Amino acid sequence: MNYENQIKNKGLKITPQRIAVLKYLDEHRTHPTAENIYEDLKINNAGLSLATVYNTLNKFWEVGLIKGFSGNKNKKNFDKNTEHHSHFICKNCSRIYDIFNDQKIELSQTGHEMESYDLIIYGKCKDCLIQTKKEK
Ligand code: ZN
Ligand code: MN
Repeated sequence: MNYENQIKNKGLKITPQRIAVLKYLDEHRTHPTAENIYEDLKINNAGLSLATVYNTLNKFWEVGLIKGFSGNKNKKNFDKNTEHHSHFICKNCSRIYDIFNDQKIELSQTGHEMESYDLIIYGKCKDCLIQTKKEK
């Protein structure tokens, strides 16, 4: 589905800014912050403001077009992938990795019902560990 239809399907008005933000998130699966998105998009979108990027992201999140979570340093990170999955955040390089197939949480045993799934695991990523070994 193209970006226009994805936005329209959620009952939102289509604007060039909204299309640009959605396209950016689709093409950058690195879980960018509003600031990251704004810094990159403002180069080709002279009229864009950080406030518009914030509002757009919050609107998209509200209607379930994207997901947001608090990752590094209390900044919100945004994700085009709305499937149930978790994130691994490297405390060294701050990269955020997707973790799938980790749904071992058996909430059924507790009597609770899961609505959404938003687990964040912190640690040192594979690349950083290799780097650390090299330096030793
Ligand atoms: Zn790392
Ligand atoms: Mn993700």
